[in-house]
Amino acid sequence: MVFTRCAAADYDSFAKLGCDGWSWQDVLPYFLKMENNISPKFANSPLHKVGGPLTVSNHESCCTQAAKDFVQAGVELGYKEVDVMSGQIIGFGDFPCSVDRFGRRSSTARCYIHPAQTRRNLTVLCDSHVTKIDIKDKRVIGVRYLRNGKENYANVNKEAVVCGGAVNSPQILMLSGIGPKAHLGELGIACIADLPVGKNLQDHSAIQIKAKVRPGTDVLTLDKIAFQHNVIEATAFVQTGLETDIPWPDMQLHFTPVFEPFGVGVTSIHELNSPEMLPYLGYDITDEERMKIEGITIFPTLLHPRSVGEIRLRSSAPLDDPIIDYQYYSDPHDAKVMVEGIRLVKRVFETNSMAKYEARILDLKLPGSKHDAWSQENLEEFVRHFAWTLYHPIGTCKMGAANDQTAVLDPQLRVRGVKGLRVVDASIMPHLVSGNTNCPSIMIGERGADLIKRDHKNAKL
Ligand SMILES: Cc1cc2nc3c(=O)[nH]c(=O)nc-3n(C[C@H](O)[C@H](O)[C@H](O)COP(=O)(O)OP(=O)(O)OC[C@H]3O[C@@H](n4cnc5c(N)ncnc54)[C@H](O)[C@@H]3O)c2cc1C
Repeated sequence: MVFTRCAAADYDSFAKLGCDGWSWQDVLPYFLKMENNISPKFANSPLHKVGGPLTVSNHESCCTQAAKDFVQAGVELGYKEVDVMSGQIIGFGDFPCSVDRFGRRSSTARCYIHPAQTRRNLTVLCDSHVTKIDIKDKRVIGVRYLRNGKENYANVNKEAVVCGGAVNSPQILMLSGIGPKAHLGELGIACIADLPVGKNLQDHSAIQIKAKVRPGTDVLTLDKIAFQHNVIEATAFVQTGLETDIPWPDMQLHFTPVFEPFGVGVTSIHELNSPEMLPYLGYDITDEERMKIEGITIFPTLLHPRSVGEIRLRSSAPLDDPIIDYQYYSDPHDAKVMVEGIRLVKRVFETNSMAKYEARILDLKLPGSKHDAWSQENLEEFVRHFAWTLYHPIGTCKMGAANDQTAVLDPQLRVRGVKGLRVVDASIMPHLVSGNTNCPSIMIGERGADLIKRDHKNAKL
């Protein structure tokens, strides 16, 4: 996975919103605690650490010249070259990834759970589905779950910690009677705590801008790429200027030296909505032919969308999928930011640093459109048509200050109005961070663990 701590300003904003203990200075120790950075260039950096559970590397062994040229293109355009783990991320830089020296993914399962598996105070039950948290007199007393189709029950003596992610944590809470009273009432679920659970759903969306390049340059083709290669080799964080006085970047570029960064089968899914677009996007050829195309794909990513959605229950049945209503691009500002990202990609390809690739961006004109391909009207429509999720949902059990009516949790991640219940995952973020959400989610896990230990020590539970 690509790995960034995102912007220091993201966490400073959490703190300003009343989430005490979540400023950049507060969370940096947890980012450092998790890290085993094996990049020689960060060996002496105070912003990196060796010896943590999760190995982070910088593609040194396999990074293409094309990625280095992309970073130089940024410098040519007047941006700084940055370490995207430093918190000060506006600029262009390599993209670290959570991959070890053997090319294996440093997942949280491998780095945290496997080493702890023999502890006497830990039991891991796979293939188990939590269906409800039992609450009596506003205190959690147990957790119901299905295992191999059978109903099971775990007593809770101290507290339950929900970590189902931004889609399923709100689902579990709502199934248990914690959520918007009116919505729960519609489904016949008795409301124990009337809280805005499931609201504030935010996600990063992106759009692939593909270019074919001159044959024989240093890019990769899908038929030859190493299996473990993390194709997103470089990134950029910029301010489009559409919003003044923002403390963070509003646009991220993901750089891949590949025409089909996600594999032909996967990419096709995004195109299936509109078969008439296939020739325009250069997909009117076989998958085998597409795997051999030499190209570069850069995807602009909307970092701080104004469009906000929600998670709702479909029914009171715990195995029914919840309704995921993202409301992407419902606010017109979001498409405008994305268009600025597309225009930046064009400027990157036009730099001297990228000239040798002779990049030809595929035609972005929508079929039947009266507008030019690079007109604002066409590009905004193109964005609405082709933007896809980067799978970064957050915010559905947000934390906040005591007087914040939109918050579900207090800054110690405790569910308001219910004793013995916490949420610790990406759903707790008050708003999106400026970048990919895995590293911030692991930080939330580290900090959540500390908050729990502290409360146990102080016997607050
Ligand atoms: C395809 C994909 C690629 C991604 N790539 C990147 C990347 O390269 N870099 C990056 O920074 N981020 C990436 N992300 C985002 C990143 O994975 C998430 O931000 C992060 O995993 C969120 O962590 P979480 O703990 O909140 O939720 P999750 O990691 O989703 O963990 C939730 C867990 O709860 C379990 N669960 C849910 N409901 C129940 C239930 N009822 N009972 C029992 N268990 C349940 C789920 O099975 C899951 O294991 C990617 C996401 C996806 C989907």
